[in-house]
Amino acid sequence: MKVPILLPNIFNYPFTYQSDLNLKVGEYVLVPFGKTKMIGVVWNHFEKNNQKNFHIKKILKKLKVKRLNENTIKFLNWFSQYNLIPKGMSLKLHLLSNEAVEEMPDKEYESYKLIKKTNNFELSEEQEKSLDELKIKNKEFRVHVLQGTTGSGKTIVYFNSIKNKIDKGYQGLILLPEIGLTSEFEKKFIDFFGFAPAIWHSGITKKKKKIIWAGLNNGKIKVVIGARSALFLPFNKLGIIIVDEEHDQSYKQDEGVIYNARDMAISRASFENIPIDLVSAVPSIETYENIKKKKYSFSRIIKRYKNAQLPEHQIIDLNKYKLNNQSWISSKTIEKVKYHLENGDQVLFFINRRGFSPYVFCKNCLKVYSCPHCSINLVYHKNKKKLLCHYCGFASNLKRKCDRNISGSCKFTFSGPGVEKISEEVKKFFPNHKSLIFSSDTMNKKSSSNDLQKIINNEVKILIGTQLISKGYHFPNLNCIVVLDIDLSSLGHDLRGAEKNLQLYHQLSGRAGRAGKPAIVYFQTYNLKSDTISRLTNSDPFIFLENELQLRKKNNLPPFERFISLILTSKNEKKLENESYRLKRHLVKNLNGKILGPINAPIYKIRKNFRNRLLIRSKKTHKIQEPLGLVLKKFEFSSGMKLTVDVDPISFN
Ligand SMILES: [Zn+2]
Ligand SMILES: [Zn+2]
Repeated sequence: MKVPILLPNIFNYPFTYQSDLNLKVGEYVLVPFGKTKMIGVVWNHFEKNNQKNFHIKKILKKLKVKRLNENTIKFLNWFSQYNLIPKGMSLKLHLLSNEAVEEMPDKEYESYKLIKKTNNFELSEEQEKSLDELKIKNKEFRVHVLQGTTGSGKTIVYFNSIKNKIDKGYQGLILLPEIGLTSEFEKKFIDFFGFAPAIWHSGITKKKKKIIWAGLNNGKIKVVIGARSALFLPFNKLGIIIVDEEHDQSYKQDEGVIYNARDMAISRASFENIPIDLVSAVPSIETYENIKKKKYSFSRIIKRYKNAQLPEHQIIDLNKYKLNNQSWISSKTIEKVKYHLENGDQVLFFINRRGFSPYVFCKNCLKVYSCPHCSINLVYHKNKKKLLCHYCGFASNLKRKCDRNISGSCKFTFSGPGVEKISEEVKKFFPNHKSLIFSSDTMNKKSSSNDLQKIINNEVKILIGTQLISKGYHFPNLNCIVVLDIDLSSLGHDLRGAEKNLQLYHQLSGRAGRAGKPAIVYFQTYNLKSDTISRLTNSDPFIFLENELQLRKKNNLPPFERFISLILTSKNEKKLENESYRLKRHLVKNLNGKILGPINAPIYKIRKNFRNRLLIRSKKTHKIQEPLGLVLKKFEFSSGMKLTVDVDPISFN
């Protein structure tokens, strides 16, 4: 018989093969493809409009792997259509380096073995109530939002709802932003369940991946805690999905195959007809809108765990307490911080910029250091003694022949602060207190667990941190946060700037005062009139979100319209220009939607490639992806030109 086989490659349709085996949809098979062999899956439809007449090859063998369930196949088909990604590439996300793992030794599954454990985690009244609400209608697809102040114990609530499912023989998936996959979280899980979750992210070994892939397929693993790509794993009997920190922008995969893992998780839950819980202190605008429209149900936990107070906030007026030259901490701030240190509090200086200085130029020739491959300034990292490009990783030494100072080299000035510069200033003002930089340059290493422990033990008194610190860490003595420049962190080519700041603030303030002592967040700012800070710091984020949502509505921005970005890149600037306009004309002629651009992307050059952007805006009801897919298929790009499609873009860089 003839069988449609989808292969993990760039084609948008299955290939037709021949076989005498009795094959069902979803079965994994080995087939010849060109001169090689490939693993594919028996798909649920044949290629449409196939007029080619070629020799049909024979399937080599069927693999000993439980077949992919048809709901997942439907999900992958939908995923392709929604994100304008070839079906084969969606299958590639599901397979493990184009492999399906047949079997792994039993001993690998010891720690995952289900243990019936009665635990004595007591729930507060609010937690109980939320849990009851989560359990309503949880036999079928529904989206429930669990909103709760940071530190209010949302995790324990959803752990309970997962437990409920695995007790009935189902599997569970917890999605976390990559950055939140801490061993702390894993410990909490083991404490609660008595067995280990499978931890899935890009950094685990190939062998571990194989164990997890096979373990989910054969049902030996019950719960996965994973980053984005865990969504495509071969669950045998998935019963519930949790998306923790659902607002987190790192759910958007924005390189390679572009998709939003939170949105795709909702869709997978819908195809599997299972419940999904979105968890956040400050939901995203889209989620908030769906709560308003009653598409999603929701519960709230307002009190913090053990009634700990949310931090207060105070504004430090920089017009009054002027900053000295090359200084970023005001005299008033120093006074406040001293008070906290004397009280035994830990202090965090927050500045969302890695490195020492983002702007390095020469006093004589005035030339700025920028990346030769990207149109962006290089950031000086003093600890590494290097200038780094935060986009492509280009590194350079701080040495340059000066145009003006004919015989010598440039004399550099460092403008603008990064964590390293603040750290130097902190050491100057508080020489007797141990301080530490908390950024991805210092904390994402194996050795950093030692430092983490020192912070928890209150041995480190002062932290200087980027937004990395806002993600899920629990520092019991942190009772003072100084936000050095809230005005700075709102810059960016991003319609979500305000929303991001809100989430950042809530997460940040959620780090403080966790052990019950009163905590204060200080804002240094010049901008006293702006009501942003007062709206930001309101304990009810829905007030801010409502305001944002109205702004979006007024301006016809998402979630009220569908945005799709088309990004064209090429090494050849002139060719890119011509091609962008040719594509625009083609779209205008053939597509029913508003087409804006082309414009040079805000970061015009990345990794030596020039970039132009087009933006398609359409009514949400139009389902524009399908016609767009057909229109793009008819457009022949000239060589060296690359098109990236970003559906529901978050970043406009
Ligand atoms: Zn670069
Ligand atoms: Zn110079």
